[in-house]
Amino acid sequence: MAARVVTVDRKAVEQLTGVLGIPATLRGLRVTSTHFFRNLWGWIVGRPQVRTVMVPEEHDPKPAAFRGMPVLVAMDNGKERCVACGLCEWACPVDCIHIVPAETDDEVERYPLVFDIDMGRCMYCGLCEEACPEEAIVMSAKVEISAFSRAGLLWHKDQLLTPVKTLERRLEHIRNDYGRR
Ligand code: SF4
Ligand code: SF4
Repeated sequence: MAARVVTVDRKAVEQLTGVLGIPATLRGLRVTSTHFFRNLWGWIVGRPQVRTVMVPEEHDPKPAAFRGMPVLVAMDNGKERCVACGLCEWACPVDCIHIVPAETDDEVERYPLVFDIDMGRCMYCGLCEEACPEEAIVMSAKVEISAFSRAGLLWHKDQLLTPVKTLERRLEHIRNDYGRR
């Protein structure tokens, strides 16, 4: 049986597609202009339909399950809760935590003389938080870690220390999530 040859008139197809595209374009314009005029009217009458969040000055509250950058919990006296056991350092899959332990004056407890996290490598996985037996490192809601150099992404202990009061929601969340009650 002889093959049937079909010649496609590409010009005609392109013209047809163009014609068919017009209704879709008009529909898109209708949706866009409806939103535009609705928002404009809301603005005129003082009841805006949309809300603009002026990031970075403003932030919407994040859910407790949100994992931003890891931070160190600072107790009410400003000291770290961390006892420099090194479990978070061991658990971190990308080796971005560096701890140098030291002993406190009474030589009973340890504390981190150095506690650095390379935020340029951190992938916000939360394994350090999960590994910590002291609830001393938690995932915060912070996400702004931009810097002008790699060195600027190395966060030191004094930058990481965050008042426990601001981390209560997350601490409560992980107690439930990790069954620590
Ligand atoms: S969140 Fe993950 S990658 Fe970041 S420091 Fe903790 S364990 Fe390491
Ligand atoms: S943050 Fe927690 S796991 Fe990491 S060294 Fe301190 S006490 Fe240990």
